[in-house]
Order: sequence, then structure tokens, then C-alpha cells
Amino acid sequence: MKQCTHADALPLPEPGPLSDTCLECLATGTHPVQLRLCLTCGHVGCCDSSPKRHATEHYKDSGHPIMRTFEPGEAWRWCFVDHVLV
Ligand SMILES: [Zn+2]
Ligand SMILES: [Zn+2]
Ligand SMILES: [Zn+2]
Repeated sequence: MKQCTHADALPLPEPGPLSDTCLECLATGTHPVQLRLCLTCGHVGCCDSSPKRHATEHYKDSGHPIMRTFEPGEAWRWCFVDHVLV
């Protein structure tokens, strides 16, 4: 089992969300299924079940390693680099 070191390097406090929906989806007229919040910069992007997967796109563009769910009532974080819940 790989140890994730990215969670310890996240900024504190957690960055506030830059938007309340996926702005890339808003711009292109696609609909997010669920939303994810980047814990490095506060980018809000759509999940991998959404047509455009902008949260994953954001990771590829920025290298920001960890996002958390932006869905009410859910609380988990995912490391894109290690592919583990952290
Ligand atoms: Zn990690
Ligand atoms: Zn999107
Ligand atoms: Zn980010």
C-alpha cells in the first residue's frame, strides 16, 4: 500500500471554493453529475461520471494532487497521484 504524502502538504485552512458549480461545464453547456473541490486552489470541477471530467482535467493541467467531494453530506478526499482515499 502506497503512503500518500500529498495530504500533509495541503494548504491550511482549506481554500474556499472559487465557484459553486463547474465553470468549464457552465461555459460549454454540459451538465456536471457531481462536483469536486481542489484542495490546493479551490477549483470546482465535475466528477468522472460527468461527460467532461473537469476535476480530473484540472489535475492534469495543474498537478494539484488532492480533491474532496463538493457534495452535501459527503466527506472524503481523493489523491489523483496515488489513487487512494486520504
Ligand atoms: Zn498522494
Ligand atoms: Zn465540468
Ligand atoms: Zn487546483
